[in-house]
Amino acid sequence: MALPSFPTSLADVNPRTWDSFQPFFASLQERPLTAENRRQWLVDWSDLSRLMVEAAASIYIEKSLDTADTEKEQTFLDFINNVAPQVEMADQGLKERLLALDSEGPDMADMAMALRNLRNEADLYREENIPLQTAVARLDNDYDKITGGMKATWDGEEKNLSQLTTFLKDKDRSVRKRAWDVICSLWLQSRDELNHIYVEMLKMRQQMAVNAGLPDYRAYAFRAKGRFDYTPEDCCTFHEAIEAVAVPATRRVLAKRRERLGYTSIRPWDWVPERTLLIDTFDGAPLQPYLGQDELIQGGLNMFNSLDAKLGRYFAAMAEEGLLDLETRSGKALGGYCSTLAMRRRPFIFMNGTGMHDDVQTLLHEAGHAFHVFETADLPLIWHLDMPMEFCEVASMSMEYLAAPNLTRDKGGFYTDAEAARARLEHLESTVTFLPYMAVVDAFQHWVYTHPEAAMDPANCDAAWDAQWQRFIPDMNWSGYETVRMTGWQRKPHIFSSPFYYIEYGMASVGAMQVWRNSLQDHASALAAYRQALSLGGTQTLPALFAAAGAEFRFDAPMLTELFGLIEEAIAELEATLSRP
Ligand SMILES: [Zn+2]
Repeated sequence: MALPSFPTSLADVNPRTWDSFQPFFASLQERPLTAENRRQWLVDWSDLSRLMVEAAASIYIEKSLDTADTEKEQTFLDFINNVAPQVEMADQGLKERLLALDSEGPDMADMAMALRNLRNEADLYREENIPLQTAVARLDNDYDKITGGMKATWDGEEKNLSQLTTFLKDKDRSVRKRAWDVICSLWLQSRDELNHIYVEMLKMRQQMAVNAGLPDYRAYAFRAKGRFDYTPEDCCTFHEAIEAVAVPATRRVLAKRRERLGYTSIRPWDWVPERTLLIDTFDGAPLQPYLGQDELIQGGLNMFNSLDAKLGRYFAAMAEEGLLDLETRSGKALGGYCSTLAMRRRPFIFMNGTGMHDDVQTLLHEAGHAFHVFETADLPLIWHLDMPMEFCEVASMSMEYLAAPNLTRDKGGFYTDAEAARARLEHLESTVTFLPYMAVVDAFQHWVYTHPEAAMDPANCDAAWDAQWQRFIPDMNWSGYETVRMTGWQRKPHIFSSPFYYIEYGMASVGAMQVWRNSLQDHASALAAYRQALSLGGTQTLPALFAAAGAEFRFDAPMLTELFGLIEEAIAELEATLSRP
């Protein structure tokens, strides 16, 4: 039987219709499959999956580079509506064929993790859940439209939410308060609509869990996210450790701010945890590390070169091959991300740089993700790249620490010694203050999805959020803004779009702090372990990946006590450097 050969380039297919891909899936479904010929069959399925992953990534990148191009948006929508659900169904058929075979044999030696994941996905699959997933995606799109459409007049000009948010960074407290008031009134105006969307989502998610024979959506989400190595109880242990260690450390950070600024209390416009905004106490102008994309790329290249020759070459390849789009311009989508082009075995970094220090920090972070793609480029099958998110963020967050000593100009970076100290201080303080907010977001969702009946009443969601807020967010004065505080869950898109997807950042942060701790002892061997761990891709368990990077997969109070001790020591040293004349 002549097999259709897979396209080797996206240019050979029309990604808007299922017809473009269906024959390739059909050929894999129909070909005889035995333990003797399955390796070649797996290689072919892997190549086809690389094509699908690259198609999805490219369509998304194209759309985000030019949001005004309706043709690109339509291609994206056609792929989501016409192709993606069909791929999921066809993949299920292929998974069932593979899993029906005896999984023993030397040809399957590198497939242990992959088989565990495929078996889990195949067991959880229910055809009746596909329309529910599509309906939830549509509701999520409604959420995006509502929040994307939030606009207010500011000094005579119409501004959207992200433009208004920039005023929350203003040095002038009265400007920040004015921006906060405007932003909050926009959210409160949409409160009922957002409540409605959330309740509808809850109903559908609960139904998905019931369809899959699971007691609640939390149990479903833990399975769907492939959380084999930790339980909801482990998350609660992590919450308790944060309450015991990170909350008091956050108190100390806030107390210093209050003292330096002469404030009687920290108000909601001084610290905005959902935006990781904490008011700057330095009198000097904001850091201005670079002008234009070329300078940002050159600085990044210099920093990575002085860190490690191989990492420098990876970054240079991205620059040469046009895989960096770092500068903001009108029509570009907001935010930043690193995407994987699975056929080309290359990463792509998207950012909205404006010349600020935040962009340097984002570049280091996204470059960590990009290095993960380079380090795994030789792994033969796409399932080897199924890296757990908890570890993907260790790759990115560790790079923020490992590259930090190179922020100074003598190491290729952007700053004088004093400027670099400011940048590092800001990074360490935001590490401290992030964990309490992360715990609010996670603990709230544990309550919601284990109390689905009660959570259908948004007033109960408000109360549950507020209870977690009081538990984890210390020393803020919300007087007069109690309703805004209670409805904070509406302002976190993850709570709508990706339930339970947040603790990954907390876990990764604890992993990255350990990589940093190791680098203080021996920078070269910490970096070598980091690169080695990245190169394993998804071929090991989550605790084994952490261990390869020199970290323990543990989130208890003794672990946080050790790490936060080091962080607060480093903060004190940097403050001493900065206060010297
Ligand atoms: Zn990331």
